[in-house]
Amino acid sequence: MPTRSKTSKEHPDLESVMFTEAQIKKRVRELGRELRAAYGQGEFTIVSIINGAVMFTADLMREIDNPVRLDCIRISSYADRTKSVGTPQIVHSLTIDIAKRHVLLIDDILDTGKTITLVAGLIAKLRPASMKTCVLLDKQGRREVPFEADFVGFKIPDRFVVGYGLDFAERYRNLPCIGVLNPKLQNPPEWA
Ligand code: 5GP
Ligand code: MG
Repeated sequence: MPTRSKTSKEHPDLESVMFTEAQIKKRVRELGRELRAAYGQGEFTIVSIINGAVMFTADLMREIDNPVRLDCIRISSYADRTKSVGTPQIVHSLTIDIAKRHVLLIDDILDTGKTITLVAGLIAKLRPASMKTCVLLDKQGRREVPFEADFVGFKIPDRFVVGYGLDFAERYRNLPCIGVLNPKLQNPPEWA
């Protein structure tokens, strides 16, 4: 076991907490209001990029009372690494018809921009009435493909974060807060 110089009381594997459960809840509620301002009472179709956006999507959906439809799309992930490598691939595509529908694409975090660009391109080909994008976290400084989301929960620095749906090797998704994973538990340095 690596020695841990610095740990958070929330979870021993976290170096620090970036957003507490209460801060996330407050911001998600505000995002709900922003969505209502954009969509009025109208219906829209949520496309959630799983697994990462599961918690955020579930909580955000309950902050709005518009009629909504939901579909999920699965994109190949980082595997056990903390930096995105190669080109993301669609592992499981949409199952409901989104033609002529207002689509809200939701992801947990916008990093290089490759994942959301891929999914937004796929949605655009299916001729929706409109498409907007919503991400909980935005690592603006890491963008390789230019992309700005319409709704952003928090802008964050370039740190690898876990919790509230975000994982490292499929773990930590169930943490109620978002925190920086202790670097000693991350990739070997040559991968970083
Ligand atoms: P992008 O394609 O924009 O580089 O990466 C987006 C995806 O990478 C996100 O959906 C998320 O799964 C993953 N990702 C990017 N940064 C982080 C991070 O700090 N923590 C975790 N757990 N996943 C991240
Ligand atoms: Mg993801």
